[in-house]
Amino acid sequence: MSVKPNPFTIAQHQLDDAAAILGLSPAMHAFLRMPMRELHVSIPVQMDDGTYQTFQGFRVQYNDARGPAKGGIRFHPDETIDTVRALSAWMTWKTAVVDIPLGGGKGGIICDPKSLSRGELERLSRGYMRRVAHFIGADKDVPAPDVNTTPEIMTWMLDEYEVITGRHLPGVITGKPVHMFGSLGRGDATARGGIYTVREAAKLIGLDLQNASVAIQGFGNVGGWAAKLSHQMGMKVVAVSDISGAFYDPAGLDIPAIAAHVDQNPRHLIEGYTAAGMKPITNAELLELPVDLLFPAALENVITADNADRIQAKIVAELANGPTTPEADQVLFKKGIYIIPDFLCNAGGVTVSYFEQVQNAYNFYWPIEEVQTRLEAKMTTAFRAVHEMAQVHNVHNRLAAYLVSVQRVADAVAARGWVK
Ligand code: GLU
Repeated sequence: MSVKPNPFTIAQHQLDDAAAILGLSPAMHAFLRMPMRELHVSIPVQMDDGTYQTFQGFRVQYNDARGPAKGGIRFHPDETIDTVRALSAWMTWKTAVVDIPLGGGKGGIICDPKSLSRGELERLSRGYMRRVAHFIGADKDVPAPDVNTTPEIMTWMLDEYEVITGRHLPGVITGKPVHMFGSLGRGDATARGGIYTVREAAKLIGLDLQNASVAIQGFGNVGGWAAKLSHQMGMKVVAVSDISGAFYDPAGLDIPAIAAHVDQNPRHLIEGYTAAGMKPITNAELLELPVDLLFPAALENVITADNADRIQAKIVAELANGPTTPEADQVLFKKGIYIIPDFLCNAGGVTVSYFEQVQNAYNFYWPIEEVQTRLEAKMTTAFRAVHEMAQVHNVHNRLAAYLVSVQRVADAVAARGWVK
């Protein structure tokens, strides 16, 4: 087994490849390799037993040349400043590929949310906001949910921000519940946006999505919705997984039943679900199943040099951020697997976050049809731009997506006169 790669080193190498093809000046290239700003915070939290624990958190504003920094906040025991840096870089390329007027940022707290009570989670969320409140804002940097953070956590953070500033400012954070100034259609937006790109990719490779077999790694907000939407569209979801394990039934899983089980489970995991025909497999085996469509929808670095040659899917649609390492990219490209790269495939979430901000600014809310029609237009336009770039330069889709995005960000940086 090779050492776990550093995601920020990967993000920088991906940029280096794009910079060489685009012929960026050395000064522009050097500027885009590093975050513009980062904040490290310590958050003391009183635990339910009366003791205090101090948690470490981060907020990185990678680039705001195209608009305020934008990106989620992750709660994860393995969070590091380098994962947050990488994720903030990917947010910069993500907002650029769908051409929304925002930059890239990301936040994280090192914690295990599954071991915290609801009260502890609320105090941690509010404590984080107290530390970052003066660093963010609707016109500076706008957080949102990510791994292990929810619309409810966004509400606590918004409330804390409004108490600190003494004003009603719902556009400071997105992914809020609909009854707390959120947008209709934000919940399933990442998965839905990914499925719009899958539909385009399937047309290109001549794959009929009716009854297409699907494996999904991750059953959180993104993976869970990918399963539900794939099922609704008539695809056959044969495998799903989360941290409690992976489950496989070649005849197709009963996704509504699994989703209902996960909703009712206090830990929101698949653990404890049983059905005839379904057999437990490992998360590693799930990735290597002979399926038409594979959705990595969990964490980074799961398709690596170690397993890339065993991936059998026709399309890999990366709903997670950073699931495939650069070595694995080369292998999948040579095998002719169609990759929809992360910051294109999963851009639906931030796209509807942007719509949410627009609605907050107008204080006027759109019907679901309007959200979905606009999302579809953004995703298909971005998909086509990346596909055309891949054809022009004869490169894999990830590099093509970088070429589209990095050029847009570099143009904004140059137009502002920061670096030529
Ligand atoms: N966390 C999501 C992502 O990685 C959404 C970010 C946002 O809505 O700002 O794209």
